[in-house]
Amino acid sequence: LSPWPAVQGETVTCEVITERPARLTAVYKGGEVPFVQEGLRSWALLPVHAMQEPGIYLVELRAYPASEQGDSQPIGRLSANLYVVAGTFETYDIVIPPSSEKAGLLNAELIRAEWRRLAGIFSQRTPEKLWSGTFRYPLEASVRRVTSAFGERRSYNGGPASSYHEGLDFGAPEGTPVYAPAAGRIALAEPLTVRGRAVVIDHGLGVYSGFWHLSEILVSAGQSVKPGDLIGRVGNTGLSTGSHLHWEVRVNVTAVNPVQWTQSEMPAVSAGSPEARTFSTLTEAYPLAVGKQWVYRVETVQRVEGWWWRASALVTETVTSVTEQKGAQFVALQREGAQGMALPLLDSPSELVLMDGRLMSVPAGYAGEALLASDELQAQSLRFIWPMQVGDRWGQAGPDRMTWEVRSSGVSETPAGRFSGCYQLAGSGMGEVQWVTFCAGVGEVLRERYLLHNAYRERWELTAWAPAAGQ
Ligand SMILES: [Zn+2]
Repeated sequence: LSPWPAVQGETVTCEVITERPARLTAVYKGGEVPFVQEGLRSWALLPVHAMQEPGIYLVELRAYPASEQGDSQPIGRLSANLYVVAGTFETYDIVIPPSSEKAGLLNAELIRAEWRRLAGIFSQRTPEKLWSGTFRYPLEASVRRVTSAFGERRSYNGGPASSYHEGLDFGAPEGTPVYAPAAGRIALAEPLTVRGRAVVIDHGLGVYSGFWHLSEILVSAGQSVKPGDLIGRVGNTGLSTGSHLHWEVRVNVTAVNPVQWTQSEMPAVSAGSPEARTFSTLTEAYPLAVGKQWVYRVETVQRVEGWWWRASALVTETVTSVTEQKGAQFVALQREGAQGMALPLLDSPSELVLMDGRLMSVPAGYAGEALLASDELQAQSLRFIWPMQVGDRWGQAGPDRMTWEVRSSGVSETPAGRFSGCYQLAGSGMGEVQWVTFCAGVGEVLRERYLLHNAYRERWELTAWAPAAGQ
């Protein structure tokens, strides 16, 4: 599963490599997601809802014989943990004066009817992948000013903040050209009541882009588009309080963060490959201004001492100065904090490793008999409460059950970085007392030696990562 952990609103690639061709499905949040089969590699996109409760979600994979269709029995099952962490979303109250003619657009029946129409489109799955590579922004860089980020919590006229912003808003003058971010087929091109003049592009496999509040529509339903094709012009039609473009991306009906689609190729590259080192922005600091916060993720998979390690950190930085020299902007950033996790990747449904000492003391060639691979642990791992305190206990007593007690917490050096919030747990049940060290919490996953090639987000590049000891 990548990215790992996933932030609310992100699209997760679930990748499975099989030994022989198989047809796969994933059960995720009660729904069945089909996979795309490319030889022995199969993948599926799992959307994380912007308001999905942070925690661990089970993804249950089922493999069926490749040749048979219909209701054959699964030939293999596997489950994986999808970690979801909270995003940083602001809350805004949108005031629409009751006297304004737009207030009539808040009519609940109208909103529902329009949504039913769109949901009918978004729930269709064109069997081919029509897009390739990363998405482009629908506006030219010179007019690309984000006025409202994805996921912002919203209340209307002082009501509860129970809704969120399903796309990205760009403030731009009426008439600004809007371009297709990726290839696809036009699924809708007509005026709507709440969303104004609207265009929806079907990118295939249940992935859609929506463009609302246009002044002009320049495509028609059924037409194919290439990335960069002119599809319409920015406007202020529908429930809108100023000229802007609203762009949203949907995966299996769920609205996901479009910024991720402009930064990462979907599906994500294979987790075992060196290109799996990723760097992505979660909260925009653009346009650059002193005091703006920027949240990004770095993720890497490394082989150290015979083990594959996966490390990921969510880093928050504040812009402390912006200077211009020779047409390029130079930015100083102050690090506010880093939330990191490092865990060994194991051929097991569980990512906890039993051992006598700390993570670093895993002996080379450790065979893995002590892996907690039982279904019971899957259930228990859902009951973790962070941060844990020394003396905390969980689990249930019984013949095949484990109970766990936190014996100590502190700092641990791992091949992937230095972490605080590492817990040593003692488990009992299922035989003798066993130990586990689990790292989560604040950590330094990478060294601070990364370079800015220039100040434009698209060109940020990491040139150095955590030292891969033993490599
Ligand atoms: Zn919007």
